[in-house]
Amino acid sequence: MGEGRVVIPGEKLGVIEEFVPGENVYVNGRGCLRSEALGVLRITRNKVHVSPIRSLEIPLKFGELVLAEVWVSETARFIVKIVARWHPFKLLTNPVSGWIMKDEEENKLIRVGDLILAKVESALYNQIILSIAGGKELGVIYAKCLKCSVPLKKLGNTLVCPSCESIHLDRKISPYYGTNPFSRGE
Ligand SMILES: [Zn+2]
Repeated sequence: MGEGRVVIPGEKLGVIEEFVPGENVYVNGRGCLRSEALGVLRITRNKVHVSPIRSLEIPLKFGELVLAEVWVSETARFIVKIVARWHPFKLLTNPVSGWIMKDEEENKLIRVGDLILAKVESALYNQIILSIAGGKELGVIYAKCLKCSVPLKKLGNTLVCPSCESIHLDRKISPYYGTNPFSRGE
């Protein structure tokens, strides 16, 4: 199942019959072990852990695409954590936070916990501002149901929870939605 590989929150790591959940791993109602964090998969005997990646650093350039996780929603902006550069794909090794300003309509179409592909709008004075407005490839590539903690499935232009069947129309969805971006680095 890929010891050492990077896993995303909600990713299935195995079943309870095979493995014991360790740190940052939870078991859902159906006996599936899933990652609670963005991190590196570790297996000790039959115990599965995820060591969280405490992300990034590196000077980011204007116009560059990055992978980020949405952390906090404030009145006028989101605070995000940038975890990787997109092309070529590279995980950042030290944490970098950024903002997404809600002044553009499309920039409101993300939610806390989402993993997004965004563009660097400004990186002056160590203050990184991202945007998902415009570019068709930009947007959410991973989201989970806040009620059920399971990854939402893309159905046309909407996201649907496979567990409670709720429909989510509040996201700008990237064509990369549902793919594990971390497999790009391999
Ligand atoms: Zn749900």
